Amino acid sequence: MQVFKLPLGALCANCYVLVGDDGTAAVVDPGACAAELVSLIREKTAGVKKILLTHGHADHIGGAPALRELTGAPICIHTLDDAFTDSALSLAADCGYDFAPFKADCLLENGDTVTFGKTTLRVLHTPGHTPGSICFLHDADNVLFSGDTLFCRTAGRTDFPRGSYEDLMRSLETLRDLPGDWTVNPGHERATTLDDERKRNFFMRRLGK
Ligand SMILES: [Zn+2]
Ligand SMILES: [Zn+2]
Repeated sequence: MQVFKLPLGALCANCYVLVGDDGTAAVVDPGACAAELVSLIREKTAGVKKILLTHGHADHIGGAPALRELTGAPICIHTLDDAFTDSALSLAADCGYDFAPFKADCLLENGDTVTFGKTTLRVLHTPGHTPGSICFLHDADNVLFSGDTLFCRTAGRTDFPRGSYEDLMRSLETLRDLPGDWTVNPGHERATTLDDERKRNFFMRRLGK
């Protein structure tokens, strides 16, 4: 699987375009349906089959309705963050994002799999930053997309509506305890690896054994 990263929108949330060996693609967190995203899709993919949202904040979902219109791909989000997409919980007004409220097409739960073409991703529920925060795991390549749950050396804020520090710590523990090393593609800033974070992440280092 090829992964293209595009920081989009005012808050520069990382949007990822995932392209399977057969050319079919999924887009993770389109914060804006920007021209650069559209041309990347046209040049590098044989079509977008899924729009995958790690959580319901505006900087990650702002471009989802326009991208759905463009590609016909269904929007997928965890059940507990579905309400975010048409309410103030998305923080759209707070961060200056302007998009029409929308509903997702497909609601995800922990342990679900999502597929596009021949590629399969696993859904891991990692609440805390929001109640419906999820990570998408590509087991074949040990690559995961952590949204605003785990960042390089730090973790997502929990002071937004419905955030929970206790839940976030439990979710970081779940990620820490995944078997093996993983490439971690977070919702902001640079990529890292799970082994690096096990050693150097401020929050992971403070978890119990
Ligand atoms: Zn974010
Ligand atoms: Zn967020």
